[in-house]
Amino acid sequence: MVAGGPLTAYRLPLAEGWERALDILLLGPPGAGKGTQGALLSARLGLPKFATGDLLRDAVAQGTALGRQAKAVMESGALVSDQIILGVVREELAKPAAAGGVVFDGVVRTIPQAEGVEAMLRDLGRRMDRVLFFDVTDEEILSRLDKRRSLEGRADDDPEAVKRRLDAYRTQTAPVLAWYEARGAVTRVPAVGTVDDIARRVGESLGI
Ligand code: ADP
Repeated sequence: MVAGGPLTAYRLPLAEGWERALDILLLGPPGAGKGTQGALLSARLGLPKFATGDLLRDAVAQGTALGRQAKAVMESGALVSDQIILGVVREELAKPAAAGGVVFDGVVRTIPQAEGVEAMLRDLGRRMDRVLFFDVTDEEILSRLDKRRSLEGRADDDPEAVKRRLDAYRTQTAPVLAWYEARGAVTRVPAVGTVDDIARRVGESLGI
């Protein structure tokens, strides 16, 4: 498919069943609104949404082996190991529900993860068709996370952990953007404004 071209060709066959899978990655700093927009996009495209952050938080809440491994790292604001992430992605991709494609929300945060996920998709005859980069200033992120902290009380929204998460983003995740940009797969979405404004931009950027 042509980079930056419309996805209409993929959406139309949806009613009759997919001709091929459609995989979309949402990339951006913490607090950029990937979760909110990912849920809307997944409903709109009829594709499952997969968020490693949600999966890991569930695992911590349930006290599974995975949760016990991830808990302290997540609370500190650092990134969970590539090995753990690639393991959960492999499990997710093996599910029948993922066969038509997936909206990946914050799933790829390091170069080794980008390489690993691409290799898994390649084995399935797929690739990351589009990467939506949620573009937002640091100032806006800090104010959003501060607000979320008072509403949700997430352990990793405390100031120290937020600082670590932004550091992890800058040093480990920002290079992932360039990695996908080199392949022409990235669309930038200004992630300020109302939820509706941003959803409209997401739709326009995908040509749907
Ligand atoms: P945010 O994007 O705001 O940091 P998430 O809910 O997406 O929030 O992720 C919460 C935490 O889960 C991250 O800070 C990190 O510890 C862990 N995590 C989620 N996805 C990944 C990933 N792909 N690689 C490494 N760690 C991850």
